[in-house]
Amino acid sequence: MPPVVQKYGGSSLSDTTRIKAVAKRIAARVEAGEELIVVVSAMGKTTDELIGLAREITPVTEGREYAMLLATGEMVSTALLAMALRDLGHPAIALTGAQAGVYTDNTYNRARITEIDATRIRHELARDHIVIIAGFQGQSPDADFTTLGRGGSDTSAVALAAALGAAQAEIYTDVDGVFTTDPRIDPRARKLHDIAYEEMLELAAQGASVMHPRAIELGLLHEIPILVASSFNGDVEGTLIRKEVVMEPANRVRGVALDSDVAAVTVRAVPDRPGIAAQIFGALADAGVPVDTIVQNASVEKLTDMTFTVAHDDWRKALAITEPVAAKLGSGQVIIDHDLAKVSIVGTGMQSGVGYAATMFRALATASINIQEITTSEIRITALVSAKEAENAVRVLHEAFQLDEPAEVQT
Ligand code: ASP
Ligand code: MG
Repeated sequence: MPPVVQKYGGSSLSDTTRIKAVAKRIAARVEAGEELIVVVSAMGKTTDELIGLAREITPVTEGREYAMLLATGEMVSTALLAMALRDLGHPAIALTGAQAGVYTDNTYNRARITEIDATRIRHELARDHIVIIAGFQGQSPDADFTTLGRGGSDTSAVALAAALGAAQAEIYTDVDGVFTTDPRIDPRARKLHDIAYEEMLELAAQGASVMHPRAIELGLLHEIPILVASSFNGDVEGTLIRKEVVMEPANRVRGVALDSDVAAVTVRAVPDRPGIAAQIFGALADAGVPVDTIVQNASVEKLTDMTFTVAHDDWRKALAITEPVAAKLGSGQVIIDHDLAKVSIVGTGMQSGVGYAATMFRALATASINIQEITTSEIRITALVSAKEAENAVRVLHEAFQLDEPAEVQT
């Protein structure tokens, strides 16, 4: 039987009582004959507290020692969980990322996993040890600690599952699974049985924060099914992220995502000639400002308006970079709108079905919600709306696409 990789997030390990409860869950699975590799995140809000400590010392929040500091959080949970398992009579061993053979590049705080050498893990499994691994961390080519970016332990778990040929990666958290939308915004949100990797990626990229997008990418690449489930609520079955959805009706919108962290930059009256977009977006890329959606209108008398969105935190930087470029190009004013949000519907059914856009825009119009910009991918339609109307827009779309209705199982 292939091994199973489990990952427990910070809320599932918030104190020693929770750690003992997690140890019991793991013990039960091992007693049933399964081989388990367990990836852990730092306890509760530990990572935030470590960041707070660093800030009390210095404004510099990057580099070798910063990664080393953040990596300590996961090591505390690995050791405590292994101790709890031993106390239950189960031989367990705690490993750092490096000890587990997780190698990364040398970008200390946004490292990418380059290779996993599973020799040590296999050796420990062969000795009937339950292997507990510190997530979120790895080892650089210089044998330094690296971390994978906030939320990165999901990525550790899926990468390890791929390296070990695991049956699936199970991600345990404090929610019951993936919902049709955020239940705090719409109480009628429904938990999905399953969802396709591409749909989950779009939802995560458009604001649904259940899982680290890179973990989903890795799942897709290696075809590792990912179960998202609650570690608190053992009776609920969770949501399976996989290649093709079999439990939910096809040809349907799967979820509505909200990203309220958006600002739009509009460059007015841009001359319509080759190379203009390259100059504006080249300057933003050089300054490391990620640009999200881009819309350019057809030109009227050789002039066009260009609008792009950035994360809310980046709007000042985006303005400072765009203004001089716009002036040099001889375009008009640069206008910022920072009270915006993106509301998206996502579903692979859109590739073959018709009428999704019409239903979406009609529903928003009926609710008198103005759409400022529209962008699409093959399986997503996104409307930019004012921030104060955004939550209402989510509820309106959830209703319009009948997402509260239980799925009929396909045959
Ligand atoms: N402990 C890290 C964080 O809080 C990694 C994780 O939770 O996945 O970002
Ligand atoms: Mg976390």
